[in-house]
Amino acid sequence: MRIHAIQTGSVKIKTAMVEGRGRGLRRQLALYADRTWTDWLPTYAWAIEHPDGVIVVDTGQGAHLLETGKSYHPFLRWKVAFRIEREEEIGPQLHALGIGARDVKKVVLTHLHMDHDGGLAHFPHSEILAAPGELRTASGLAGRIRGYLPNRWPSWFDPLPLDLAAEAFGPFTRSRRLTRAGDVVAVATPGHTTNHISVVVQDGDTALFLAGDTSYSESLMLSGRVDGVSGSDRIAGSTLGAIKDFVQSRPSVYLPAHDPQSGARLANRRMGGAPDCAVFGEDGGSWRMERAQPHSRCHAQA
Ligand SMILES: [Zn+2]
Repeated sequence: MRIHAIQTGSVKIKTAMVEGRGRGLRRQLALYADRTWTDWLPTYAWAIEHPDGVIVVDTGQGAHLLETGKSYHPFLRWKVAFRIEREEEIGPQLHALGIGARDVKKVVLTHLHMDHDGGLAHFPHSEILAAPGELRTASGLAGRIRGYLPNRWPSWFDPLPLDLAAEAFGPFTRSRRLTRAGDVVAVATPGHTTNHISVVVQDGDTALFLAGDTSYSESLMLSGRVDGVSGSDRIAGSTLGAIKDFVQSRPSVYLPAHDPQSGARLANRRMGGAPDCAVFGEDGGSWRMERAQPHSRCHAQA
């Protein structure tokens, strides 16, 4: 199996979104008071070259996201910013890897936030899988009020329901196999969104945990810090705990969509294993995550 990390541009958000402040509603509202931006964070999607056919996990950003600053939605207008060129969308990048649209058998969506469903238009021939509850939450006017962009879905978008069975997979209580061999499995990881899923790829001895937005970095998962958007502290915290149990019980690589170290961890096939540095710029206005050890690169990266 070959697994590709595909960076579809980058995103800037408020620091209170990455690492929640306080608990409950106060944590969710802190996002709107926060004036501090993160540095640009990557937005990764993933392509698995599997004997059953190529499986894509999340579709990343689309160039249409460059217009969110004109939106009337307060989150889109003031709390998020995107950077992407058309050739950075997932379709052209897969093409450059020799993977055509018809080679992609399945597209699995961890959730339907705009930086995960932004490349859907590149997959008109694929079976697209999304959790039914996530689809309900994201659809229609209510979805738009919640900050989803169902109006940007392709007209043909009608995903198959990714229903997870009450079948335990490690510490995860609900799961579903996505391949005949059972080496690619969707697991329920509620928190960031109520019906968020992650995808585990068993590649030889190593489990690759394609985590979507369960956390914004490996260290935030290891320390169990809930993000600023999760609805429930208890549910999100429990998911982070389950992931930590999973990755510490076997050789694993944890790969969240926006962790600047995800690409390097996939290439090296190992966990970072050390906390990331949270680096503040001189004005306190710039924030980024970098791995602290073993090479102490906290101040090396612009
Ligand atoms: Zn998200």
